[in-house]
Amino acid sequence: MNNTTCIEKSERVFMNTYGRFPVAMVEGAGCRLKDADGKEYLDFVAGIAVCSLGHCHPAVTAAVCEQAGKLTHVSNLFHTGPQTELAELLVANSFADRVFFANSGAEANEAAIKLARKHSGEGRFEIISLEGSFHGRTLATVAATGQPKFHKGFEPLPDGFVHAPFGDLDALKDMVSQKTCAVLCEPLQGESGVRLLEKKYLQGIRELCTKHNLLLIFDEVQTGMGRTGSLFAYEQLFVTPDIMTLAKALGNGLPIGAMLTTETISASFGPGSHASTFGGNPIACAAGLAVMEKMLADGFMAQVKEKGAYLAENLESLAAKYPAVAKEARGAGLMQGLVLTPAAVPFGQDMVNALFKDGFIINFAGNEALRFIPPLVVRREEIDLLMSALDRCFDTLKI
Ligand SMILES: *Cc1c(COP(=O)(O)O)cnc(C)c1O
Repeated sequence: MNNTTCIEKSERVFMNTYGRFPVAMVEGAGCRLKDADGKEYLDFVAGIAVCSLGHCHPAVTAAVCEQAGKLTHVSNLFHTGPQTELAELLVANSFADRVFFANSGAEANEAAIKLARKHSGEGRFEIISLEGSFHGRTLATVAATGQPKFHKGFEPLPDGFVHAPFGDLDALKDMVSQKTCAVLCEPLQGESGVRLLEKKYLQGIRELCTKHNLLLIFDEVQTGMGRTGSLFAYEQLFVTPDIMTLAKALGNGLPIGAMLTTETISASFGPGSHASTFGGNPIACAAGLAVMEKMLADGFMAQVKEKGAYLAENLESLAAKYPAVAKEARGAGLMQGLVLTPAAVPFGQDMVNALFKDGFIINFAGNEALRFIPPLVVRREEIDLLMSALDRCFDTLKI
């Protein structure tokens, strides 16, 4: 199948839920992807912050192949080694004592929402999340998502979700009531355009939660697994959540999600409280183990920080060179956004498409910022190539 034949067939069989680039991808290695016509791309989206070790990392591929030849699935009626070992590593390297495995970010958040409600008891069910947040597409997680455009047409949504204005601690304080059981937030908002939350604000939320006996849930589905330069983003914020959710990069492309919490809170779930047929699947967990091993190796996080800073500096220079196009760079580690000026926002998707034609994959997040979330193994030379491409693109823009 070449690009055209694949697209023609796709258009006949798929529901029209995705705006896709007009190519079929067939191969990947590191930061490179190749389409069905043989054209190569430098990937600064990494399967939406998923392929953090790069496409087809040999250690992940080997772990997956080996596990596939041994045991593919037994359900959670049984213990399995890969699942146990991955949970052990997550516990050893986080605030958490206990893990529940799911298959995606939304499912991990569903588990967190259910646990928060069950733990908090009768009458306390309301979860405060933030405007601009993204927590998933299932009914509960889309209700938690603070972006009305994702709600439209799906009402009535599950009850018990309210959204606090971004960055306003007093407003959030005013929303706490007898019904509140938890605050759910991303330490750094990804989908709405790489929006940073101030440390002081997050620390304020932590204090508020402790004071009112609310659970603080960090959705680290995108920020977790090294993306911001530490295994989890909360480590750099001096804020420890009560519950944390992970997914995206945990399996480097194999579907896996996880909810982590403390011993005390986890005691609110017992046998039958929650379950997943595929959750903790041995192949996905074998991939997760390979990912953890690489990310825990000496120097891994240091190189994420170092290249993140390099990317940010370069984006800042571009913003300085093209003030009519870009306002500023913002982000943490290798999760960076270039915020467009209001005049340039209508051209955001055109820029993404121009870059794509030029062989670079980026995206436009939150109708606000060009987003760069490359594999964490991206090389400086690859960042340089992207910068020249962005420069070429901005140079031809008539803004
Ligand atoms: C991607 C994402 C999700 C949803 O994950 P899925 O695996 O698509 O269900 C939830 N929260 C955040 C912060 C995300 O970035």
